[in-house]
Amino acid sequence: MRIRDLIADYYSNFRMRVSSGAVTSGWHKIEIGIITGCTISVILFSLAMNILTNQESGGGILDLLQPGEGGASNSCIQEGEVQEEVRAAVEEERSCRMVAMRQQGAWTRWENTIERKVTWAELWKAEPHQIKFLIQAVYDVLPSPSNLHTWAKVETPACPLCCKHGTLEHILSCCTKALGEGRYQWRHDQVLKVIAEAMSAGVEWAKWSRPSKHAIAFIRGGEHPKPSAKTSAGILASARDWQLLVDLERQGQATEFPQPPTSTLRPDIVLLSESTKQAVLLELTVPWEDCLEEAFERKLAKYEGLVSSCQQAGWRARCLPIEVGCGGFAARSLSRAFSFLGIEGARRIRAILSTTEAAERASRWLWLKRGEPWGQSS
Ligand SMILES: [Zn+2]
Repeated sequence: MRIRDLIADYYSNFRMRVSSGAVTSGWHKIEIGIITGCTISVILFSLAMNILTNQESGGGILDLLQPGEGGASNSCIQEGEVQEEVRAAVEEERSCRMVAMRQQGAWTRWENTIERKVTWAELWKAEPHQIKFLIQAVYDVLPSPSNLHTWAKVETPACPLCCKHGTLEHILSCCTKALGEGRYQWRHDQVLKVIAEAMSAGVEWAKWSRPSKHAIAFIRGGEHPKPSAKTSAGILASARDWQLLVDLERQGQATEFPQPPTSTLRPDIVLLSESTKQAVLLELTVPWEDCLEEAFERKLAKYEGLVSSCQQAGWRARCLPIEVGCGGFAARSLSRAFSFLGIEGARRIRAILSTTEAAERASRWLWLKRGEPWGQSS
């Protein structure tokens, strides 16, 4: 209890102010939460998360969060009050910006990812095991061999597959044995499938919704003409014969060109319009979140030659590398690629969401299977 008193005392006397250039704010007292940059805030946060996740394993706190379930829930007034509190928090739509409260470290550097808020509403809807994996992965508190070793629970921090240092990053993206067994390829294809589905739907949609050239706007007397809705039609609207070729399960021929420029490279997705001689090459990488930008540069360089030989063969070609982090955070390149094709608005948001979910789901599976043999049936 002494430690608790110490922390309470420390926090009760906390005042802070913010300086920016010549301007300095007044002093504020902290009302709730923890203070960024304060040395014990990280420990406090981990403590709180630990309590939450432990409770969750025992069916504690999350049962409490599930509305209207469990026969015993009425037995205690306090419990009802807690539920009221939680519901109030949800209704206020106060974002629980877990990402903003990131542990000092990797997350602050992911400048190029599409911002992703973990909101109360999302937590409410999500399956408990999903929440647990996402939060634990983000704060690196999953029982990886490396963490278990740090926590003095195991003798060795070795990866069960290759015996190298088994951090979460190693297990989810750097293990050469896992790579050789096709585990990462499997995850890559899970994500690719979802992207290809969205693009295939985009091709269909563009076929049928091409705006007529002679659209007539009817305007009533006295009305001002409405500014036409901003529609960037995207490249898919520029032809009707788009073909979508996807290189799933390494099927070989799938994405080769009809008039192949001499190259052994096969992009993951090729979109071709023969009538307009346009080609879009899309190459997906599912790297560790820290490596999103590096992957983009690498893929762009890798396909430079293929793009220019397509251009020499008379095609208007373009390569779009796409990165989706294995923790479920997409790089902006994904959003840009959908926009380029003309997949916009709600359709784009849905497509991004299902893509990131696929990456996260597949990573969770790789995590669960980390010590088990890998079969093709998986
Ligand atoms: Zn390994």
